[in-house]
Amino acid sequence: MRPTDLTTPPDLTHERHTGPFRTQRPNYHDLLPPCNHACPAGENIQKWLTLVTEGKYREAWETILRDNPMPAVHGRVCYHPCEASCNRDKLDGSVSIHAVERFLGDLALKEGWKLTPAPATGKKILVVGAGPSGLSCAYHLALMGHSVEIREAGPLPGGMMHFGIPSYRLPRNVLEEEIKRIEDMGVKIVLNHKVEDLAVEKEGFDAVFIAVGAHLGKRTDIPARDAGKMLDAVQFLKDVELGQAPKLGRRVAIYGGGNTAMDAARVARRMGVEPLIIYRRDRDHMPAHEFEADEAMAEGVNIHWLRTIKSIEETSFTVEVMELDEKGRPRPTGQFETLEADDLILALGQDTDTGFLREIPGLKFQVDGTVIVNKHMMTGCPGSSLEATWCQPSARSLSLSATARRRRGTSTHG
Ligand SMILES: Cc1cc2nc3c(=O)[nH]c(=O)nc-3n(C[C@H](O)[C@H](O)[C@H](O)COP(=O)(O)OP(=O)(O)OC[C@H]3O[C@@H](n4cnc5c(N)ncnc54)[C@H](O)[C@@H]3O)c2cc1C
Repeated sequence: MRPTDLTTPPDLTHERHTGPFRTQRPNYHDLLPPCNHACPAGENIQKWLTLVTEGKYREAWETILRDNPMPAVHGRVCYHPCEASCNRDKLDGSVSIHAVERFLGDLALKEGWKLTPAPATGKKILVVGAGPSGLSCAYHLALMGHSVEIREAGPLPGGMMHFGIPSYRLPRNVLEEEIKRIEDMGVKIVLNHKVEDLAVEKEGFDAVFIAVGAHLGKRTDIPARDAGKMLDAVQFLKDVELGQAPKLGRRVAIYGGGNTAMDAARVARRMGVEPLIIYRRDRDHMPAHEFEADEAMAEGVNIHWLRTIKSIEETSFTVEVMELDEKGRPRPTGQFETLEADDLILALGQDTDTGFLREIPGLKFQVDGTVIVNKHMMTGCPGSSLEATWCQPSARSLSLSATARRRRGTSTHG
């Protein structure tokens, strides 16, 4: 071997050299990973995934439950923005957080895992509405040892989880079992009880949490002559769920481009009807998730993009072709077409019904009726906080964790 074949050893007497020398000391920061940051329920995903990889399933489930009482539901219907923001996606593929959450949620139901609430504090809280928001709030309060009563207008708890999300996406036994676990913690749910005068009903309670959702379907004026049925999408889904599905003609038009429109169309399809969606913008600008539109189309739903309904005469829908301006807003082109449908389902979004809160001193309202809250979700009335109804379109996930929102200081309304 010649001496030139050997790597020259580093000259340790000089500063500039290669070799086993450290001139900078790494400084490690533990930052919030993108998945945790994106989770609308505020889950510590990083932590519970680590526990899963160590085979500690029960601890992983308990970690989820610090923020979210319904992982089996979430593991099915959450739009999992955690995975969309996972930086592993840039490398090969994002971690399957959603599927692992479902696995843990289902395992907990199978094993009958439960949590023990803290000793009773003697405080009594009234929760109005048994949707995911009200149930989640009740769960967190019960865990702290408070006594909680939920008053719910509907015949079943669950809110839109029961009467909006179709059962083919969220099996009802899973939903019921997760709600039962909350009831088993001592939460009392009074059904068929619409709160109409909160000033009276809050007597005897130390605080009130209002979680009434958004159930008033938005309407639009369409000149119609001898037209078929004109239904609201949320009411339609609710009627189907209650076994009171309306009788529809052979073809039904659904007006709107959000997830509710996709669900209404897919439910109609399952009733043997031919659904067609009419939406004023294009696919890139629809509020529905890509996969919801893909699944709807795969099931045979026709989507007519860039169209608005101008008038209806019997089964003939006159629609105007739209185009998008540079900001993605639809504008009319003056060109018209005719589409054929027997009935119409409006899926134009929902408003919240806060009329029953108008007499409460200190509450302030937005123009659309939603209650104004501060960064701690508190209204202007001492002792009442408000989960103002509806998951923000940007978050697009069940508003399961009231505490998570409080932590971030965001309000929810759509
Ligand atoms: C068709 C449809 C599909 C959806 N799909 C998904 C999905 O796949 N994934 C997802 O993450 N999100 C989905 N969402 C959104 C999700 O359902 C909502 O974000 C969520 O249910 C809102 O929770 P909430 O508790 O604020 O309100 P809600 O779920 O609306 O619950 C409010 C409850 O309050 C009750 N109430 C109202 N007024 C009163 C009163 N005065 N007194 C007593 N009780 C009252 C109502 O009866 C209701 O039970 C969907 C929504 C719809 C409409």
